Amino acid sequence: RAAAGPQYLNGLNPEQREAVETLDGPVLVLAGAGTGKTRVLTTRIAHILSQGRARPQEILSVTFTNKAAREMKLRLGQMLGQAVEGMPWLGTFHSIGGRILRIHAELVQLKSNFTVLDVDDQVRLLKQLLQAENIDDKRWPARMLAGLIDSWKNRGLSPSQVPAGEAASFGNGKGGKIYATYQERLKILNAADFGDLLLENIRLFRENPDVLRQYQNRFKFILVDEYQDTNVAQYLWLRLLSQAPSRPGRALSDVIPGDLTSPRLRGEVDAHSASGEGDPPRTELVETPPHPDPLPASGAREQAAPLKNICCVGDDDQSIYGWRGAEVDNILRFEHDFPGAKVIRLERNYRSTGHILAAASHLIAHNEGRLGKTLRTEDIDGEKVTVTGSWDSEEEARAIGEELEELQRAGENLNDVAILVRASFQMREFEDRFVTLGLPYRVIGGPRFYERAEIRDALAYLRTINSPADDLAFERIVNVPKRGLGDATVQLLHDHARKRRIPLFEAARAVVETDELKPKARGSLRDLVMQFDRWRAQREVTSHTELAEIVLDESGYTEMWQKDRSADAAGRLDNLKELVRSMEEFENLQGFLEHISLVMDRDGEAGDEAVSLMTLHSAKGLEFDNVFLPGWEEGLFPSQRTLDEQGRAGLEEERRLAHVGLTRARRRAKIYFATNRRIHGTWSTTIPSRFLDELPAHNVEITESKGGSGWGGSGGYGASRFDNLESFGSSYSTPGWQRAQANRGRGGGGRSGGSGFEERQSSYSSEGFGRTKRGPMV
Ligand code: ATP
Ligand code: MG
Repeated sequence: RAAAGPQYLNGLNPEQREAVETLDGPVLVLAGAGTGKTRVLTTRIAHILSQGRARPQEILSVTFTNKAAREMKLRLGQMLGQAVEGMPWLGTFHSIGGRILRIHAELVQLKSNFTVLDVDDQVRLLKQLLQAENIDDKRWPARMLAGLIDSWKNRGLSPSQVPAGEAASFGNGKGGKIYATYQERLKILNAADFGDLLLENIRLFRENPDVLRQYQNRFKFILVDEYQDTNVAQYLWLRLLSQAPSRPGRALSDVIPGDLTSPRLRGEVDAHSASGEGDPPRTELVETPPHPDPLPASGAREQAAPLKNICCVGDDDQSIYGWRGAEVDNILRFEHDFPGAKVIRLERNYRSTGHILAAASHLIAHNEGRLGKTLRTEDIDGEKVTVTGSWDSEEEARAIGEELEELQRAGENLNDVAILVRASFQMREFEDRFVTLGLPYRVIGGPRFYERAEIRDALAYLRTINSPADDLAFERIVNVPKRGLGDATVQLLHDHARKRRIPLFEAARAVVETDELKPKARGSLRDLVMQFDRWRAQREVTSHTELAEIVLDESGYTEMWQKDRSADAAGRLDNLKELVRSMEEFENLQGFLEHISLVMDRDGEAGDEAVSLMTLHSAKGLEFDNVFLPGWEEGLFPSQRTLDEQGRAGLEEERRLAHVGLTRARRRAKIYFATNRRIHGTWSTTIPSRFLDELPAHNVEITESKGGSGWGGSGGYGASRFDNLESFGSSYSTPGWQRAQANRGRGGGGRSGGSGFEERQSSYSSEGFGRTKRGPMV
């Protein structure tokens, strides 16, 4: 077929072209990383518009992040040669859901200017409700309930739909009831939480068929990126919109799929996948949604109307949000949900060079729960994936810093460089290093380390100790964690401070001597003032790091997060530990705080060119020429949580995350691991990640750390460290990695002379990477 047609179709391969041009009926593009799925979606929109099949406001297009939505608009403009006007329905599930909800707010008992609560507001409200029910907040923390409600909402469950057992699992059986009350209170407050943006939208559609019909009519085309990471609520929402508009008068229940979230159904699915019976046909597991359903003969014709033109793209190997309720099943079930769907597979990867793609494919082949797919590249082999060990995380940061400077000297654009970490606490070390080197960087998908809420809170305590006149700091934490010192108290303190021209903290000291506060608040404030006095005295006799630990502990701040059951609480606790650890590098509290103010002051930062720093989770869908992957150690990556867990689901999700990381790289992928990492305040010797063992030797090269003394290559402490590792490994067979590295250390600094490398290679193959027993080598 001649490559005739509009310009934007040029260069697409036949399968991509088919995915773009099949505009009618459901289409699923199920394909691996870098095969052009997102590009297909963007081109498809261009095609729809240029063919005049729909206007911009008639296309619903869902991306995973707001950033991805912006990018898509930009590309569209380039393809069509003009900026795209409108596209009001291109965005994330939540932004689009929120938008629809505002238009029809009154139908779900809200006003169009409703507030979207953040987690703190949510917790505050739940706390009130717990109190009203006489439920002990210590035993049943409000944050835990917030996490529960969130997970129910992700699963599309309104209060009446929560399975009784689950509803009763919290607060002596009262969890479900409080969820219901909470929803009622939100209405009174004219507020919605994040989960409501979709859940209330679903309710809106279910209770108002005419409204649903309006949107079914409006959206002529639906497109969804990263379909493998949709959760049940998102799925239900899409299902509603993707039906051809129902005729007025027809019961809505007819077009709503069976209750996918019923415990019975879920139970069956779970039991099946747990039994490990390969890949059971989905049709047996899920109730057949009633469409097209039998209708009276007269209506049969109309009823046969096709489903909406929906196109979903995804990759089961990149499903990484299971922990947040995403259901990879959604993608596996597509053909069943959308009968007659055209499934298109793309096999050519356009992103990565040969070695990188081979390494990533080999790694992911260790997962059992996957569809399996071929990926090939026509690109050159390029550079091998490198693996570099360092002594500790500091050396790791130094090594990467040096490599970055080298890349910069070689004329690489820093915008094409990314560092992808498993856990956000890892960022701290890199950020400090980059500040020292004067290397511009940006943190994507979250705040920079020292700007995180929990870090700012902790710093506020330390600042208040260091400088009692630091009103901003004191005000930030006076009621964090909650100690009954609300707005009224703070207002009173401000009045006092202003009148007497004294700092807020001194005002507090004065106010507790009066009877202006209610006894309870007064007692609480007095305790706080005395605590600070005590901490300031301790400062003279203890180290600043110890002091920080004491403060976080005694203030109840750490405990507040320990009780928090929201998904990011564990990460916050890790960040706090990392903060304490970072203080060690400074002589005293004063020096540390000065450093922080310097780091924080870089707000102007990152002009045009900057290195990107982000978690692996936020890297989804992105690509960079050079990708650095630090921290590949057991307990960090894969994370300890997944190691402790029964079953392999968590571990397989970690492996998919590793796969996502590697497949972000176009030309260079560089993996790092440190032999020692400070976790929970103590140094521990770490074991290189099992994922390293799962890389194919042929595509990997071990390199020297550029970060300092080298770890083993230059003799020194190298060898003794490996002795240590070997004795450590009584329950482990010493992995190939460590043996290879140990040989190197003993070899007395054999830099990568030819023989040295071969020796390492052979050590690989003879050991089969150490842990082949763990999973199949495919
Ligand atoms: P991921 O699974 O990581 O989201 P993806 O399948 O969405 O990847 P894209 O990001 O769309 O892949 O494409 C990867 C890269 O390959 C992009 O740089 C894209 O421009 C390029 N690409 C895709 N298709 C082609 C093509 N036919 N010719 C040239 N380059 C292409
Ligand atoms: Mg993509």
